[in-house]
Amino acid sequence: MPNKNQLQEHTSSYYAATATEYPGYEPLRGAQTADICVVGAGFTGIATALTLSERGYKVAVVEANRVGWGASGRNGGQIICGISGASKLQKKHGETIADLLWDMKWRGNDIIFDRVNKYAIDCDLKSGYIEVALKDRQVGYLEDDMKELQRRNFPYEYRMFDKAETRNIVGTDAYVGSMTNMRNGHLHPLNLCLGEARAAVELGATIYEQSPVTEIVHGDKPKVMTANGHVEADAVVLAGNAYHTLERKHLSGLTFPAGSYIIATEPLSQDVINEINPQDLAICDLNEVVDYYRLSADGRLLYGGRCNYSGREPTSIKASILPRMLKTYPQLKDVRIDYEWGGNVGIVLNRIPALGRINGNVWYSQGYSGHGVNTTHIMGEVIADAMVGQLEKFDLFAKVKHHRIPGSQWLGNQIIAMGMLYYRLRDLM
Ligand SMILES: Cc1cc2nc3c(=O)[nH]c(=O)nc-3n(C[C@H](O)[C@H](O)[C@H](O)COP(=O)(O)OP(=O)(O)OC[C@H]3O[C@@H](n4cnc5c(N)ncnc54)[C@H](O)[C@@H]3O)c2cc1C
Repeated sequence: MPNKNQLQEHTSSYYAATATEYPGYEPLRGAQTADICVVGAGFTGIATALTLSERGYKVAVVEANRVGWGASGRNGGQIICGISGASKLQKKHGETIADLLWDMKWRGNDIIFDRVNKYAIDCDLKSGYIEVALKDRQVGYLEDDMKELQRRNFPYEYRMFDKAETRNIVGTDAYVGSMTNMRNGHLHPLNLCLGEARAAVELGATIYEQSPVTEIVHGDKPKVMTANGHVEADAVVLAGNAYHTLERKHLSGLTFPAGSYIIATEPLSQDVINEINPQDLAICDLNEVVDYYRLSADGRLLYGGRCNYSGREPTSIKASILPRMLKTYPQLKDVRIDYEWGGNVGIVLNRIPALGRINGNVWYSQGYSGHGVNTTHIMGEVIADAMVGQLEKFDLFAKVKHHRIPGSQWLGNQIIAMGMLYYRLRDLM
């Protein structure tokens, strides 16, 4: 049965209001076949489908709502290198995987920049990112990153700034230091997802929208079942992240939905833009529970933050996020808020993305812990490689022992909420 989140149009975000026009895709009807069937048309599903289509596979994507309906069409649009929890993997395996992880860390950025160019995807892609430190101890993290970039002769521009210089770049006294990196950046995420979907279809993929998957029937040729049809394939990829409840026996208690929320102002004057973000950078702080913000192509400030772990949307997103925005930019107190929205990120207890395989031919990738724009693209490639036997990267993640939280999702969310409260208190100290 479809749950309350299913069979919906795009949420009323700034992104949906400025989405590239697309015809929409027909629902799944009758008996269909494919080499590989992907469940979920967010970045994980679409990036995997596009990689597989580029490699000549016949791919079907089955989406409960619309392409980019979930977190992928609603997020902050910040492309930030790295994989959540990677430092834990490195600690466990030591220097032997340092180079592998370093290359993987940047792979998502490369894939996105290449695809936008190759498929002429109109998604306001911009290079430029600044990580801002609220405390001296966070400046230490930036210095460590800086040393690593230097040691590896990182070929793109990056620089550290002190408090006064940071103020000139981001127009606020909130931060004690910062570091830019021009290989990170920002974009209109829904338009990237729609553009990659179009590219996959042009390469022969079929996308079915408004088709909630109700069950996977396992076997040599697993079947992806919906109310009005099914797809039989050689392999299935589950890409529903925080929104899916399939394969409970194997996946329950592994990934938990946590809400993240964004407000968008009216378009700002050029004077205000020159003051708060003249270089048009994506901005993210270094707290555990981050504030992230940037300008849209039409000059709005898109300000996001504050996860909630109750699984319930706040009564007013604006009332929750606006005070944070005004703490950073008191000068924006008279600016109108035109849009407010939120979505669910998939959180895994140890923060390492959960990848795996069920019965040999049903693959899954989920739980990027709020860091998914680039990671989804990395994992799409990792899964496509694994399907042809290149398992090194897949196994690195699939062999991680994840702790499950037994019992209901409500209990899991309470435990995650307690953990995040700890991090939030640490941020405040
Ligand atoms: C408000 C917000 C801000 C964020 N900001 C950033 C950011 O700036 N940078 C960053 O890197 N990350 C950010 N993230 C995280 C990032 O958006 C996610 O990690 C990423 O989009 C996850 O992609 P996905 O494809 O795995 O999941 P989703 O995009 O959530 O897609 C899952 C899809 O599966 C479908 N589905 C679920 N169940 C079924 C079913 N039974 N049958 C068929 N389809 C199904 C859903 O309808 C949905 O379309 C943010 C997230 C949110 C919510």
